[in-house]
Amino acid sequence: MTAAPVTTDQSARGGPRGVAVELTGLGRSYGPIHALDDFTLRLAPGELVALLGPSGCGKTTALRCLAGLEDPDAGRIEVDGKDVTRVPTNKRDFGMVFQAYSLFPHMTARQNVEFGLQLRRQSGQQRRARAAEMLELVGLSTQADRFAHQMSGGQQQRVALARALAIEPQVLLLDEPLSALDAKVRVQLRDEIRRIQLEVGTTTLFVTHDQEEALAVADRVGVMRDGRLEQIAAPEELYSRPVNDFVADFVGVTNRLAGQADSTTATVLGHLVPLLDGSAGSGPVVVLVRPEHLTVHADPGGAHTVTSVSFLGAHGRVVVALADGGQAIVQVPSSSVGDYSPGSRVTVRPTGEPALAVSAQG
Ligand code: ATP
Repeated sequence: MTAAPVTTDQSARGGPRGVAVELTGLGRSYGPIHALDDFTLRLAPGELVALLGPSGCGKTTALRCLAGLEDPDAGRIEVDGKDVTRVPTNKRDFGMVFQAYSLFPHMTARQNVEFGLQLRRQSGQQRRARAAEMLELVGLSTQADRFAHQMSGGQQQRVALARALAIEPQVLLLDEPLSALDAKVRVQLRDEIRRIQLEVGTTTLFVTHDQEEALAVADRVGVMRDGRLEQIAAPEELYSRPVNDFVADFVGVTNRLAGQADSTTATVLGHLVPLLDGSAGSGPVVVLVRPEHLTVHADPGGAHTVTSVSFLGAHGRVVVALADGGQAIVQVPSSSVGDYSPGSRVTVRPTGEPALAVSAQG
């Protein structure tokens, strides 16, 4: 499935290229809805940023403003230091791949990739060479003469990616490019997109509502809510140091455990947990603890009761009814799934990883 690395025009010219992109104070309203509200985002040259957030938070509007498909009511967009806020889409030199397959069905893969080059008045020979290079990059050299309608969804999205990259865009925009694909193809193509993006070095904005996808492909992930960025950080940082409740919940499964905070620590299930910056620092709190940051042990004298056990392949998950009336989801090695059964008594404790605490009243 993985294509052999090829030398692209960009790398032949001396390594990956990429331009800086700056969206500053963007606003876009539809009647009473603020799709973007003072939205600011900077992408470094060659960086892949994923915008993540629930439906309606403004991800697509941000991407469409950057593409020039939507006019912001306020703010400024700069690409490579130039103001493009009012530059029409066809003058922005961007490559785009959308959720819906957007190939011309009556054209072959090669013709689809050549299409954009034709508009740029390249000679037939140049077009054929470039299309062949791009189809090799996405691992479809042997399918070049297939018609789009004869290809699978994953193959069509590869062609769409090849077409977007063929014009050597300054910026690549990907709007939920994988969401119409089944789970296995989605993961394969997601990894391919990242490999290709690293190889060509094009600054890329990737919009998705799938947190795993965002964490897997991006240099940095921006989590949006109500038209604003709540946090933007490298995947690991976002996961381990969410700045608030919303981000913690949106990025991965989170337990909400009752605790008692005392400045920089909280007592949870009888054990001390260091608190992340931004935590509520005193009194009764809810501590957000990842399932992998809890351990569970079978214990006939334990205070808590297992309610369900599931085997998830790489690991397992034990759901526990806590003595205080709460619930905890605990990640366990798949080899130990058999140690627990619904109704059995257990002890549960935090591993001591730093966690975010929010006020129990909130
Ligand atoms: P999804 O994941 O569902 O695609 P999103 O985060 O991409 O959501 P947007 O499509 O950017 O969200 O929409 C943000 C808000 O703006 C939503 O409330 C949406 O209903 C509204 N909106 C977007 N486009 C229009 C439009 N053309 N007319 C009216 N409202 C719009």
